[in-house]
Amino acid sequence: MNDNSMVSLNEIEAARARVADTIRVTPVNLSESLSARLGVPVHLKLEYLQRTGSFKLRGAANAVSRLSEAEKAAGVVGVSTGNHGRGLAYAASRAGVRCIICMSELVPQVKIDGIRAQGAEVRIVGRSQDEAQGEVDKLVAEGMTMIPPFDHRDVIAGQGTLGLEILDAVPDAATLVVPLSGGGLIAGVAAAAKARKPEIRIVGVSMERGAAMVASLRAGHPVEVEELPTLADSLGGGIGLDNRFTFAMTQRLVDETLLLSEDQIAAGIAHAYWQERQIIEGSGAVGIAAVLAGSIAADGPVVLILSGGNVDMKQHFEVIGRARPDGTSKEA
Ligand SMILES: *Cc1c(COP(=O)(O)O)cnc(C)c1O
Repeated sequence: MNDNSMVSLNEIEAARARVADTIRVTPVNLSESLSARLGVPVHLKLEYLQRTGSFKLRGAANAVSRLSEAEKAAGVVGVSTGNHGRGLAYAASRAGVRCIICMSELVPQVKIDGIRAQGAEVRIVGRSQDEAQGEVDKLVAEGMTMIPPFDHRDVIAGQGTLGLEILDAVPDAATLVVPLSGGGLIAGVAAAAKARKPEIRIVGVSMERGAAMVASLRAGHPVEVEELPTLADSLGGGIGLDNRFTFAMTQRLVDETLLLSEDQIAAGIAHAYWQERQIIEGSGAVGIAAVLAGSIAADGPVVLILSGGNVDMKQHFEVIGRARPDGTSKEA
């Protein structure tokens, strides 16, 4: 695994030392209810308790710390309005690096406030993501560095630190269940986990509504899919037709992928709330949802990554209100 499209265990271990001051080592809890259901220990990696509310801080912090002094002085720029934007804003502000997040006029105020609260400048340009991207290109031409959300060696290595933490906490883990979108998380986690424990099984979980990586794996090359509204909104978006790392790494390191319906994701969010007392976003609940759906084979200890908690509280209230306290739907 030495070719240039793969991020190595060495890079991930180096990232761990670099991000140690910025990130929080998040806890791992055994879920009594999910363990009873599967008949094997089911552990939850509580990464929604990460600073900024998701694991994206890990990759952003590693990428920022790898910049040269000149690059740090010029600052960083990004387009994400979601978890990557928050993580990048926080990582940059901790490192004393200027950060501009560009977004379109259509982005809701709460997202703008969320990014500003982490210490970034917000620049609102045009009425589409493409126009916002145009502003990023201009800032890059002026000398700032763009930090992308997943397809970047240092970002993948940063996300991989989560894999190291998981194996430290659960050395006998047989299966890791990982939310999957652009693939930075799963590529990093799988690279770390398989380097330490080659026989470990890595399962990627996406939503039925717009899973670009799964469609790309099936096609054998990166493809575009239509973006649709989903409860797992942090899993939306493409993987890039010119994908450099995450497609190849996912193809090589991930054993299985599966897709969930909106109802199944809702059941995951509801179970987390009613049974585990956790408020997590849809994207962070897909592992729980996959277990509840009966899609995870029980052949040894399982670890689910609860990847984020940045949920719209009104939407969350609706989802948990529709469910019975055992997580099942009232209509069912
Ligand atoms: C970004 C994100 C993911 C998916 O990560 P990728 O690296 O894009 O695959 C999963 N969960 C949450 C909460 C996220 O923010």
